[in-house]
Amino acid sequence: MAESTYPMLAVETALAIVLEQAAPLAPMRTALAAAHRHILAEAVHAAKPLPPFPASVKDGYAVVASDGPGVYPVIGEVTAGRIADFAVQPGTVAYITTGAPLPTGADAVVMVEETEELSTATQHNEDATSVGQRQVRIQARVSAGADVRPIGYDVAVGQEVLPAGAYLGAAEIGLLATIGAAEVSVYPAPRVAILSTGDELVEADAPLNPGQIHDSNRPTLAAAVEALGGVVVDLGIAGDAPAAIESAVERGLTEADILLTSGGVSMGNLDLLKPLLDRTGFVHFGRLRMKPGKPCTFATVERNGRRKLIFALPGNPVSSLVTFYLLGAPALRKLAGWPNPRLTRVQVCLSQPLRLDPYRPEYHRATVRWEMSLHEGRGALLADSTGNQASSRLLSMRSANALLELPQGEGVLEAGATVTALLIGDVV
Ligand code: AMP
Ligand code: MG
Repeated sequence: MAESTYPMLAVETALAIVLEQAAPLAPMRTALAAAHRHILAEAVHAAKPLPPFPASVKDGYAVVASDGPGVYPVIGEVTAGRIADFAVQPGTVAYITTGAPLPTGADAVVMVEETEELSTATQHNEDATSVGQRQVRIQARVSAGADVRPIGYDVAVGQEVLPAGAYLGAAEIGLLATIGAAEVSVYPAPRVAILSTGDELVEADAPLNPGQIHDSNRPTLAAAVEALGGVVVDLGIAGDAPAAIESAVERGLTEADILLTSGGVSMGNLDLLKPLLDRTGFVHFGRLRMKPGKPCTFATVERNGRRKLIFALPGNPVSSLVTFYLLGAPALRKLAGWPNPRLTRVQVCLSQPLRLDPYRPEYHRATVRWEMSLHEGRGALLADSTGNQASSRLLSMRSANALLELPQGEGVLEAGATVTALLIGDVV
């Protein structure tokens, strides 16, 4: 069999090429409710302070701090959302709730636990003017400013609340809401077109005729793309006819920022994608020095003034998903504006011995979890292999949240050995 003419690139080299070709999409203004899980395109500064008024931190009494402990008439109440229509004079106090604006004249709050409410009919009513009025015994001595959040305590006017490049999760959405930023500039979700190739493939709901299998790559890749925040454009199954593949590829290039195809990149008669991509655009690489997924191909095509990224992934289900995580996921994140689009790399401890591949580095699928008993009770991440690593065996990706970066080499890595791993899911 003829050798491929494409040089075999190290994954790190291939990833550098991919990230160089991938440019963030043009930012767009979006309503805050739609900004969740996007990357902020420009820094956001607070146009107003929070709180916008001196606010009580506790339920209690607004006081003049220098008055000190003693019995005082309660001249009014102020609750959150309202402004007092009175001022607190020395020798008087006002009931106040958490978050309410401090009335004029008061300079501190004494929490309710440090007070005792007195009934109006008690003997403490020595002053005739306060008969029939609420009174309270203030038991604590507080200094000015006690239990009051001054204006701008949480967020100062002009303060940068989020830098450009921030990921908008729950807290960040809250920060934007709290400063009244109803619309923000974010990078849009990349559109990712997904095509399966192969005459043997049918949909999951179709009966299998002899020689056929269900298409698993397209649903798998669609789910992976959605999990990363991409928008899927489904191109269906193209079979192995070059014309059908070409028209589906064209549609993908028109409608999406990234095109993922799977199958048809191995050596032999049905190496369909590389010649097509060679004609349509520029093939940056056609082979990777890695396992599983050696024939992974990457090309770029200029369409509508944009550079479209094409990943022609191998057909084997594991190979296509692993190569998508290694190259496609960082590309998707780069387009989505992530300042560091790479997968997170951690150190993990092997729970069992693993045999190395003498020819290629291997991305061994594993389930990683925190194990407190490791490293003399200080804890470490422990990696359990998902078992048989055949590239056709999608079960080897079940529950996998990490790809162990096993170096090319002889022999085995012993249980307890430390290796690096790329996280592809949550550590639970
Ligand atoms: P290929 O790269 O087209 O030679 O495919 C390699 C292997 O992956 C073959 O066994 C194919 O049947 C299988 N394969 C290709 N595409 C898919 C797919 N979308 N879903 C499941 N298996 C596939
Ligand atoms: Mg095929």
